[in-house]
Amino acid sequence: MIELPKLPYEMNALEPYISARTVEFHYTKHHQGYVNKLNSLIEGTSFEGKTLEEIIKTSEGAIFNNAAQVWNHTFYWEGFSAVPQKEPSGKLADMINAKWGSLEKFKEEFNAVAAGLFGSAWAWLVVDKSGELKILGTSNAGTPITTEDIPLLTADVWEHAYYLDYQNLRPKYLENFWNIVDWKKIEERL
Ligand code: MN
Repeated sequence: MIELPKLPYEMNALEPYISARTVEFHYTKHHQGYVNKLNSLIEGTSFEGKTLEEIIKTSEGAIFNNAAQVWNHTFYWEGFSAVPQKEPSGKLADMINAKWGSLEKFKEEFNAVAAGLFGSAWAWLVVDKSGELKILGTSNAGTPITTEDIPLLTADVWEHAYYLDYQNLRPKYLENFWNIVDWKKIEERL
C-alpha cells in the first residue's frame, strides 16, 4: 500500500504565489488520486509490497504513470517552503554560477524550458552522472529517477498546477514559482 505523504506545510503556506485552493485541489484530488489509482492497479500483482521507486523502475503503462506521478508530486511539494531560503549557497551556488553565470540567468533558462514544454509536463534541474547541472523536461509522468540523473528541483507544468491561479499563463506561474522554492531543500538533494 502506497501512502500519500503528508504535505510539509499548511495548504495556504504558499500564498499568494500558489493559492490554498490550488494546493487543496492539487494535493487532495490530483496527488491523492494518483495514490488511490496506483493502489487499485497494484492490488494482487507482483508490485504489491514494493517501494514506490521499485515500482517506477520496473513498470510501464498505467502503473508507471500513476507511480511516477505520485513520486513527482511529493518531490515538487518538498521543494517549497513558506519561509524559503531564497538563494542557493555553497557548492550548488558555485555550480549554478559556473554553468549559467548567475542565479537570474539560470532561472531565465529554466523558465524558458518550462514554458516551452508542450502539453502536460515537468521541468527539472538535475545533476548528471558526470556531475554537471542540466535543465530538462519530461512529458506526462516522465521522471529522471528512471535515468542516471539525480533530480534537484522540479516545476509541475501540468495545467492543474496553475490554472485556478493563473489560467493559461504558465510563464506567470513560473515567474512566481521562485518566491517559494526553498534552496535549502534543493541543496540537500545534491
Ligand atoms: Mn500536478
